[in-house]
Amino acid sequence: MALIVQKFGGTSVGSVERIEQVAAKVKKFRDNGDDIVVVVSAMSGETNRLIDLARQISDQPVPRELDVMVSTGEQVTIALLAMALIKVGVPAVSYTGNQVRIHTDSAHGKARILQIDAQNIRRDLEAGRVVVVAGFQGVDDQGNITTLGRGGSDTTGVALAAALKADECQIYTDVDGVYTTDPRVVAKAQRLDRITFEEMLEMASLGSKVLQIRAVEFAGKYSVPLRVLHSFQEGPGTLITLDEEDSMEQPIISGIAFNRDEAKLTIRGVPDTPGVAFKILGPISSANVEVDMIVQNVAHDNTTDFTFTVHRNDYQNGLQILESTAREIGAREVIGDTDIAKVSIVGVGMRSHAGVASRMFEALAKENINIQMISTSEIKVSVVIEEKYLELAVRALHTAFELDAPAGTAE
Ligand code: ADP
Ligand code: ASP
Ligand code: MG
Repeated sequence: MALIVQKFGGTSVGSVERIEQVAAKVKKFRDNGDDIVVVVSAMSGETNRLIDLARQISDQPVPRELDVMVSTGEQVTIALLAMALIKVGVPAVSYTGNQVRIHTDSAHGKARILQIDAQNIRRDLEAGRVVVVAGFQGVDDQGNITTLGRGGSDTTGVALAAALKADECQIYTDVDGVYTTDPRVVAKAQRLDRITFEEMLEMASLGSKVLQIRAVEFAGKYSVPLRVLHSFQEGPGTLITLDEEDSMEQPIISGIAFNRDEAKLTIRGVPDTPGVAFKILGPISSANVEVDMIVQNVAHDNTTDFTFTVHRNDYQNGLQILESTAREIGAREVIGDTDIAKVSIVGVGMRSHAGVASRMFEALAKENINIQMISTSEIKVSVVIEEKYLELAVRALHTAFELDAPAGTAE
């Protein structure tokens, strides 16, 4: 008999019929003798609908009140799923984050889980109940409702699995595992049987939204066995593992991630003196704007051009700050660009292979795609390109690194 935490995402609980299908699935595991804790997201589209409502009142809703509201989506699905389970004869009970007690810090909209009191859940499991927990939400030490950031139900699932020392955390979604790249963009993408935590963490942080970054971090930190599976199709899914397989057999690249969430800011003709990077980025970071990639070039006239990327939501704010910095330090001009995208290749196999970056650049050059910025780490290479070439770039790289499914096998 195992203790399993099963998380079902928005599309998997997107209608009453689907919720009943989830209940039937959970019942099967129960009938096998397993103890089950289920974590659910809001019905698909619901969190966006709620955020939209708030935005009709204010562009920047008060974070505390926004959390009070967006957390309601999950409250609906826990109750519906508990009812559906009870209807098919499975004793079940629903819990909000506060009722479990999932303690978080007070950072509304991106709260971190600090601790979970799992006694209530344990007691219910011992009494033979299935416990249904609202994902994405917690409570701070003042009793305020908090939320964990978009996609945060994954993190609830993994954190509960860690707290309960579950045998496995299963993330059920609308694809049958983690693919070499988003299967909705590249038809030839292939499901991976396994991927390391390290690679999954890079993939998630570079834009693959199949798992929330914090969920992967948590699972790695607490060694929670984690698997991504399709909600309604049988199959082995993808296991996120600690160990790297023999690097001789390891493909060089495990996956390709991409995102359209960034924007580029450039300050040109900056007098090149010591401390200039700090003068440019200091005010940006004081405004809590996170910087991702950075490039600095020195020109022959002792001035420098400095380019960096920020989240698109921070673009306007970043642009204004940079314009005021430019006036202060006597820079020539400030240029912004929101039509960019970042494409990254990820793989632990890079450690043991040379020439990976140049192979990437060659594949992009063949498609006439200009690279605007580059950044590398031990197991990834990222480039910024013009957004309109994003899908072409991902497909070209997928082929160049021999990730395409053999003809006839793609879904
Ligand atoms: P859920 O609502 O179940 O949490 P998400 O939409 O958050 O589901 O995540 C699943 C989606 O992630 C898939 O529909 C797929 O389009 C997308 N995705 C992006 N990158 C990948 C990848 N490498 N492998 C699988 N799915 C991916
Ligand atoms: N409902 C939340 C969201 O849409 C949390 C989740 O689905 O994981 O972001
Ligand atoms: Mg998700």
